[in-house]
Amino acid sequence: MAGHQQTLIVLDRDGVLNRTVPSPREPRPDSPLRVDQVEVFPWVPAVLRELTDAGFGLVVASNQPAWAKGKITRADLDAVHAAILRDAQAAGGLILSSHLCLHRAEDGCVCRKPATGLLAEAFACHPGYVPAVSWMVGDRATDVQAGIAFGMLTAYLGAGIPEDEGAFAARAIRPFFRGNDLRDFARFVLGRA
Ligand SMILES: [Mg+2]
Repeated sequence: MAGHQQTLIVLDRDGVLNRTVPSPREPRPDSPLRVDQVEVFPWVPAVLRELTDAGFGLVVASNQPAWAKGKITRADLDAVHAAILRDAQAAGGLILSSHLCLHRAEDGCVCRKPATGLLAEAFACHPGYVPAVSWMVGDRATDVQAGIAFGMLTAYLGAGIPEDEGAFAARAIRPFFRGNDLRDFARFVLGRA
């Protein structure tokens, strides 16, 4: 099979690379707020290595509003992200860049998913990748919405939640691929599904 040099895999972070953490102020488990809460899923390093070896470009695009919400210091936000990148790349997979939206929903920015600003930034940083053959991989409907709005293929990972199914139905969209976790996506995209 030819290489995958035109395919960028844009990875959501929390729930895709690392486990989410129960948060008393959020309706669902949310980003880790301290380095000692960081737990990259055990399969992620090997999967990222496989995807890198196959020629895919990998980047992260993630909403991280906890600092703007006053729940974390900027230093801790940066330290948590660095720890996730370190652990996720531990087997030799390469994450080319990270694109983080630090705003809250009410800030009205152009980057917070489901808006497409982070995706535009990622493709601008890495010329040569083609959105139509690239993937937005996430665990929330907002990830899928952003990917579809930017003309990408989309993967929705996890068991799904009713709110997300409602969002898909309301917009008459659906993810191109569904799976339990990044292992399923990698099997699919590497042609072994
Ligand atoms: Mg997520």
